[in-house]
Amino acid sequence: MVFKCQEDSFLKEFTSKVLKCEETKESIVDYGKITNFEGYQIVLENTILFPAGGGQPHDIGWLDNIEVLQVLRKGDEALHFTKEPLAIGTTVTQKIQWERRFDHMQQHSGQHLLSAILEKEYALPTTSWWLGAEESYVELDASSVAEDVIRNVETRCNDLIRDAVTVNVKFCKANDPDLNEAHTRGLPKDCMDTIRIICIGDIDENMCCGTHVTNLSQLQVIKLLVTEPGKKGKTNLKFLVGNRVMKTFQHMLDREKALTALLKNEPNKHEELVSKVQKNLKIANKSLQNVLSELAQFEVDRIKNTQPKPKYIFMCKKEATPDFNRSICKALEGDGMFLFLASSEPDKPKEGQIIIQGPEEHCNELGQQITELLKAKGAFKHGKFQGKAGDLSGLNKCKKLVEEYFANV
Ligand SMILES: [Zn+2]
Repeated sequence: MVFKCQEDSFLKEFTSKVLKCEETKESIVDYGKITNFEGYQIVLENTILFPAGGGQPHDIGWLDNIEVLQVLRKGDEALHFTKEPLAIGTTVTQKIQWERRFDHMQQHSGQHLLSAILEKEYALPTTSWWLGAEESYVELDASSVAEDVIRNVETRCNDLIRDAVTVNVKFCKANDPDLNEAHTRGLPKDCMDTIRIICIGDIDENMCCGTHVTNLSQLQVIKLLVTEPGKKGKTNLKFLVGNRVMKTFQHMLDREKALTALLKNEPNKHEELVSKVQKNLKIANKSLQNVLSELAQFEVDRIKNTQPKPKYIFMCKKEATPDFNRSICKALEGDGMFLFLASSEPDKPKEGQIIIQGPEEHCNELGQQITELLKAKGAFKHGKFQGKAGDLSGLNKCKKLVEEYFANV
């Protein structure tokens, strides 16, 4: 069956009679994301809501005021998924979420154009394609594609968009001789009774069940992004068409504006500035490490020179790193003191690393309580505990616990 959406891809409103309404538990799949669904599947006499197929995602829209969350093709029927039932025999007004549909038309017709140029002019056939929520790609039967080929193909496609080449749809039956000229890429098996051939001027003829623009000028612009390794030695070429180019460009401008404010300089200096900041950070980190290791030595000397000798050390310095704490523990190993040292993660101050070390009797008494209070993961090994603490907000309680314990031993 050829649906109304395939006859007129620009129709935004349509009335049709309800033929079937059945309960369903089939999941909703949108841009590859699966969500559980319980509701109804409704069949209408005809539909302007496109059922997913041929690489094009389904439309969403409304039947009167009831939201259609998914449309699937089963045989020659389109199933409309809704949360509420509709009475069989009633006439409903269908409305389409046009922004989403037009976006799909731009990406899909853009894909036909892109695949045609790649195959006919660069011998790079498309083996499959994907329309995602953010980006789309064509899978090319090649292990790589040279950058100059990508730029030339992009220019060629945009020239044809500027030339406003007409796109029309030919309908024919399965035994029609016209079929030999067209490709069958992405055509569902149940679309075979009446076959649609999408013709882009004299550039391309392609069998397809999707909804398409009527003129290449409606694509506005095509932007080829990057290539990535695909399956089995193939290459995925990512692309954006029309409004997605505008949206992405705006997104990039906003990001650039934010970076300009942060770096306090013009965009063409960003790269230079970031690399300078990274270099300076490396130097600063190295200096900090030197200072910390001197500070650790200073702390060790201070503890060793304290009279009378302390029974325990409880240290959680703000600037401490796991390395800093480890070097203190190492220097005081075997000194008979109970040590507790903590350091927090710079980006997650509630989390960190702790070390507990000292005579077995004290570790046995305090170890478990401390690790529980701080939600620490790890185990005592050779009288020493080193591990991650999930919640450092219990540090004060730990300190009190240790103080009270040593006041009584
Ligand atoms: Zn197609």
